[in-house]
Amino acid sequence: MTKEVRTRFAPSPTGHLHLGGARTAIFNWLLARHFNGKFSLRIEDTDTLRSKQEYTDSILQSMRWLGLDWDGDLIYQSQRTDLYKAYVERLLELGKAYWCSCTAEEVEAMRVKARALGQKPRYDGRCRDLGLGPAPGRCVRLRLPATGRIAFHDLVKGPIAIDVQELDDFVLLRADGMPTYNLAVVVDDHEMGLTHVLRGDDHLSNTPKQILIYQALDLPIPEFGHVPMIMGKDKQKLSKRHGAKAVIEYEKDGLLPQALVNYLARLGWSHGDQELFTLEELVKYFDGTNLNPSQACFDEVKLSWCNAQTMRGLPLETLACKVQPFVANLGFDTSLARLEPLCAMFRERASDLCGLAASFKPLLVTSSELEYVAKDTAKHFNAQGKVYLEALMKVFQKVEPFTSLPLNEALNAYVADNNLRFKDVAPPLRTALMGFMGGSHLQDIMAYLGPEETQKRLQRAIEMC
Ligand code: GLU
Repeated sequence: MTKEVRTRFAPSPTGHLHLGGARTAIFNWLLARHFNGKFSLRIEDTDTLRSKQEYTDSILQSMRWLGLDWDGDLIYQSQRTDLYKAYVERLLELGKAYWCSCTAEEVEAMRVKARALGQKPRYDGRCRDLGLGPAPGRCVRLRLPATGRIAFHDLVKGPIAIDVQELDDFVLLRADGMPTYNLAVVVDDHEMGLTHVLRGDDHLSNTPKQILIYQALDLPIPEFGHVPMIMGKDKQKLSKRHGAKAVIEYEKDGLLPQALVNYLARLGWSHGDQELFTLEELVKYFDGTNLNPSQACFDEVKLSWCNAQTMRGLPLETLACKVQPFVANLGFDTSLARLEPLCAMFRERASDLCGLAASFKPLLVTSSELEYVAKDTAKHFNAQGKVYLEALMKVFQKVEPFTSLPLNEALNAYVADNNLRFKDVAPPLRTALMGFMGGSHLQDIMAYLGPEETQKRLQRAIEMC
């Protein structure tokens, strides 16, 4: 029987969840879900100075918002120090690790010397065979094999190999008694039974060190995959400058989580030329292959397009539910039944929920609260506009039922019967109804407003002409 696939996401709570981290989480989640395996979440909070509970909370909120559910209990590295120390003990007993009394200054001096000789800065191994025991100020280092190569097949980058001599006896347990990142990760990845470690390639240089720890402990080594960082379009490190935001901000701005998952999954992975995926399709197709070894660039326009497309594909009642809190934020307590027709009218024109909610505003206020765009009233509220609006008031008074189709027919009949052009009549009417030259189909707007509100808006516009 093949082993159950187990993956994890292991964020450090030193900031909000960003796009790169979110993509790593998505890849690991998809891989586990594709193979019906398990996906775990581990908070790497050993850096007590930089780790903050508020960031852990924010990361968890973003994970939930993205729909990336995890299996089993959430793991906090800060609660597992004893476990890491037990592994260090084992390495010491096996003779694979040793106590080192060198001070930070001494190690720095070794590095300076090595650099001066044109060599790689490294710890020179002077405590290796001193047989030192524990004492304040001492750390524990891994005893590296004298020669050999560390080779592995990276799921993204292909075969990777480095010579052991490139490395030095690195620290496992710091002088302050805290385990190092590399030790804690190996212990946790092993204890959690992980089969695959997919992470950013900023960790690539750690992987040979982690493999050496696995080997020293004689533990099975998981498969590794290192995805290139997400860059800005200018190939620089991704930042706010490129329009990138923390996941929590996209939530506030009214992006749909499935659009962000879709966009990020596609950034560095492909399935033919397909751009838009349902979550089910992503789970079906994502099997850890087709990960792109070259850097992906963040494109906010494409993300926005992806979101707009996703918004258009949602059932109206779902979209109404999603936009309701954004409408409430604008101060309108609108029922879902009243939001659905608005969604139908405006969703083609909006690219996020915030924008969609804002586009409803002219139809949610009363005629006396309607705000006008001066440029449009100046252009369309004039003597000729007044003639059209007065005539239309009478035309629409007679429409029964007051719904889109009869309203459209009445408007078209007025234009045709009077030998007018639609493009002359529509602008004053549109400005009267919406306050500006935007919105949706005129007949849908009037049907939504109802006969009384339509009349009031026309009357108010006539007075402004
Ligand atoms: N905690 C690390 C980070 O946030 C990830 C470690 C790993 O994936 O091995 O970059």
